Amino acid sequence: MTNIAIAGAGAMGSRIGSYIKQAGYSVTLIDTWEDHVRAINTNGLEVQTETDTYTVNIPAILPTEVTESFDFIIILTKAMQSESMIQELYNRGAIHQDTAILTMMNGLGHDERFKKIVPHSQIFLAVTMWTAGMRGPGQILLEGQGSIEFQRADGQVDHRTEAINKIFNDAGLNAKVSNNVFQSIWSKATLNSVLNPLCSILNKTIYEFGSYEHTRAMVQPIIEEIVAVGQTRGVTLDAEALLKKIEAAYPKETQGLHYPSMHQDLYHGRYTEVDYLNGQISQYGREANIPTPNNDMLTHLIHQLEMKYVK
Ligand code: NAD
Repeated sequence: MTNIAIAGAGAMGSRIGSYIKQAGYSVTLIDTWEDHVRAINTNGLEVQTETDTYTVNIPAILPTEVTESFDFIIILTKAMQSESMIQELYNRGAIHQDTAILTMMNGLGHDERFKKIVPHSQIFLAVTMWTAGMRGPGQILLEGQGSIEFQRADGQVDHRTEAINKIFNDAGLNAKVSNNVFQSIWSKATLNSVLNPLCSILNKTIYEFGSYEHTRAMVQPIIEEIVAVGQTRGVTLDAEALLKKIEAAYPKETQGLHYPSMHQDLYHGRYTEVDYLNGQISQYGREANIPTPNNDMLTHLIHQLEMKYVK
């Protein structure tokens, strides 16, 4: 895999892309944000960490400027931009018959949408514990450590699996091949489907939310719906373990001082990924005749807030 593209090079895409580039691979960032692309090409990508600021020289292009094909494409747009990105890459010949297309986006159902455009056997799914933030066009803020777990979406292992694992680990991204990536994706999606909308609707940090003595009465019904819906799709989730994971995020020493990303998107006037979290649970629930009133309501409340805040 000699030619790598990051399609969607915002905060996370820039983090992953810069790490792989610094490990000596050929990497191109592809993004629709013109000011960001221009800044990276003019000044390099400026990376600020807790201790250091440095520049990574890495080529950046708009999707409409793609003229070559890639062996490995990592999709890190926001979920709602991903299909148009893949379609554009496909139309421009960026995807050949052996290209591995991997996404680390949060949310559910990405493989089902992607396989309408590219063969299922070329799609890889990942969950990541790395985080990243944007400071401005061409500038990212990187804190903490993380990991990546990934698997081909149809569960098969092929020559690309080990090649991807090597690229990620050469880049220090702490990756491993999963034998049940859906379990991890659904677990993370459960955390996100609870804390993202609740903290956004309440305009609270995770710590402020967790300080209320009746949080369990709010959280448990949401988890129960997700567990029931997951069951209909062959994913077995442990409601008690998920509740513990959510509660482990409350203290100030863990994630308590943060607002979840949905809060940041909403109050900065951007659409959220709610349709790929609670909204996707509701959709799967409708398909399986499982009622999901809590997830339905959270989706509606976030859409109401989007009407108010998205410019
Ligand atoms: P992001 O908002 O930084 O970038 C997503 C897209 O929005 C990019 O194409 C970017 O160029 C564009 N964009 C961002 N700011 C813009 C601006 N001011 N003007 C115009 N365009 C702008 O998103 P992200 O945080 O990198 O997330 C990408 C995916 O990764 C999402 O599915 C997210 O849920 C997931 N994810 C993010 C993190 C994180 O810590 N950021 C962690 C894990 C997973």
